[in-house]
Amino acid sequence: MMRLKGKVALITGCNRGIGKSIMETFMAEGADIVACTRQMTPELGMYYQQKEIEYAVKIYPLLLDLADEEKIKSAMRELYSWKLTIDILVNNAGIASFVGIMRLKLSEVKNIFQVNYFSSLLMIQYLIKLMLRSNSASIINIASVAALDGMMGNCAYGASKASVILMTKSLSKELGNSHIRVNAIAPGYIDTDMQTLISPELSDNFLNGAAIKRRGAPEEVANVALFLASDESSYITGQIIRVDGGL
Ligand code: NDP
Repeated sequence: MMRLKGKVALITGCNRGIGKSIMETFMAEGADIVACTRQMTPELGMYYQQKEIEYAVKIYPLLLDLADEEKIKSAMRELYSWKLTIDILVNNAGIASFVGIMRLKLSEVKNIFQVNYFSSLLMIQYLIKLMLRSNSASIINIASVAALDGMMGNCAYGASKASVILMTKSLSKELGNSHIRVNAIAPGYIDTDMQTLISPELSDNFLNGAAIKRRGAPEEVANVALFLASDESSYITGQIIRVDGGL
């Protein structure tokens, strides 16, 4: 249907997992991509070349380490020099750890907040200028059900994602008049490398109580991101959409 034809989407953490699936889904709908990764490898370069041909889109690779404020700044300087209009921003990259309160180190909490929350906030600050050039822009933050439900060992990861959710709601009000919609997706148990952090017994326990008793596929998150990125959701902003099989 080419729902994103003529749009440019910047996606963080698109070399694997949910980010990669979002990138594929957006390219299949005609979007050009600013592909943000921490590293560039020959395999990734080949993949980009193949996909540019397969989908007739443009991919702009951008090295971006979200753990370091100075590196974000220099990456943004490079992005500005390309003089693009950005229509869609997906703050997807993230890190997790689940540690009980007595063993939790503040340095770890700060690191998780840096990558999951502070960097998303910074990316939005830098990109608003480029998104104002679009006549229908969309910011999509990848949060988590861990931000909404109390869970064991969740005072770092869940708290950082709860901040992402409040930022989403607040910014939707600030940016509505500027034609920038801001929404978040709260995934449940999705089949990616991140799931290896949770013991299978623990996640099976949760999944047994869910309406749909299986892990989600990254594409099932990507399809919701596509809806939020496209003009099909033109009257939707400030929303948190759970993609969790009914946990
Ligand atoms: P993965 O662990 O598979 O991928 C994480 C991505 O984030 C990778 O591309 C990784 O890059 C990138 N990343 C991590 N740290 C940094 C950094 N400092 N700078 C730049 N990029 C970084 O995770 P998922 O795909 O599962 O997760 C994607 C998002 O979805 C995350 O925000 C996560 O919290 C959220 N989520 C995932 C759930 C799940 O069940 N999988 C559930 C709920 C939310 P690299 O390859 O270089 O490490």
